[in-house]
Amino acid sequence: MRYSNLFGKTNKMAPADADSANARLLIQGGFVDQEMAGVYTWLPLGLSVLRKVEQIVREEMDALGANEIFMPSLQPKEYWITTNRWEGVDILFKLNSQTGKEYALGCTHEEVVTPLAQKFTHSYKDLPFAVYQINTKFRDELRAKSGVLRGREFRMKDMYSFHTNQEDLTAFYNRALEAYVKAYTRCGLKVKVVQASGGIFTENVSHEFQALTDAGEDKLIACTACEFGQNSEVATLKAGDACPKCSGALAEMKGVEVGNIFDLGTKYSDAFDLNFAHEDGTKKRVLMGCYGIGTTRLVGSIVETSHDEKGIIWPKSVAPFQVHLVSLKGKDEGSEVVSAAAEALYVNLKQAGVEVLWDDRDLSPGAKFADADLIGIPLRLVISSKSLAGQNIEWKERNVADSRLVPQVSVLSEIQSFIARS
Ligand code: ATP
Ligand code: MG
Repeated sequence: MRYSNLFGKTNKMAPADADSANARLLIQGGFVDQEMAGVYTWLPLGLSVLRKVEQIVREEMDALGANEIFMPSLQPKEYWITTNRWEGVDILFKLNSQTGKEYALGCTHEEVVTPLAQKFTHSYKDLPFAVYQINTKFRDELRAKSGVLRGREFRMKDMYSFHTNQEDLTAFYNRALEAYVKAYTRCGLKVKVVQASGGIFTENVSHEFQALTDAGEDKLIACTACEFGQNSEVATLKAGDACPKCSGALAEMKGVEVGNIFDLGTKYSDAFDLNFAHEDGTKKRVLMGCYGIGTTRLVGSIVETSHDEKGIIWPKSVAPFQVHLVSLKGKDEGSEVVSAAAEALYVNLKQAGVEVLWDDRDLSPGAKFADADLIGIPLRLVISSKSLAGQNIEWKERNVADSRLVPQVSVLSEIQSFIARS
């Protein structure tokens, strides 16, 4: 992609009302645009990151054997009455139709997936199964804040699993927990796996996945050595206690909840009378689990945990491009040579399947470098008449302070091994 052709540019000025690093950097870098509080447009750069995050999540859910579906956001009021959540959930957006009907705008999808499962669940032979979607969620949050961490409209991957017995549900729940840790790790995000309460979903205990950052709203008691933690809302342990998992020291930490999994038991199958015919001929309740990852919040959390004063530092796995090519035209007669060399490398990299953003604008080196640092692509390559004189290209990794010169002839192979290194 040529930067001159990219829709959505960097801003020199930080937005006046940005209350967090992710809000400031994602807006300044041209990743998102704020329409109103808690509602964002994902611009090409941001959409590229979001898609990569969602693809990683998708692959991990597929590996669990779950099936991807896509459910409606417009949900009938009756189903929410059935689960007692029409009045009980304060963040539920409610819509009036000109037909006189009322609808909920999906903040979660138990009210859709449980009746759906009923249509396909008859006997024990139909179980177990798991379905998931990656969809937009709407929540009437009293205070939308911290950029994309708490929106009123945001993206979530939600998965629902259906089982004949507790043992099977627990086994799947534990596999899902491992898949979650794998997904976050692949996205370059370290999480604590935290015991928590079931909130609006269930009375059973659940697990939250917390990324450690001061931008987070949750207080945790978590291990300084391993991934164990407890949300302070349900904590039975305190700072200074020994970790029950590894005997490391527990400490108070702040985190942002990037995922949450729940053992729902029969809460929703009771509400919708979701049963199956057991092998012995009796009718039994289906057991359910639900598993959410906020994918837009996940992008914001990566920014919160991976940036410096100059801008974002994207992990390679989710960066919008792998290479940020900067050509420095200069004013001398060498400028044509620089443009030609940059164009040749750009075409070469694209043909080799390398994702490259080429800053082809006629700007000062300082302005281009500042934009490259702000955008945060893992590798910056600079072509100037100076570097070309020695048949070199300047190589600078975003998370390394120094740059070095790489011979033009070996730059493609070096890039390929750089990308392959995780
Ligand atoms: P919170 O306690 O932060 O309000 P929640 O516990 O209500 O979140 P869940 O219902 O567990 O959220 O939703 C699953 C996931 O969706 C959360 O773990 C989080 O990653 C994401 N999420 C929830 N609310 C929002 C929001 N307003 N904006 C962005 N992501 C959200
Ligand atoms: Mg939650």
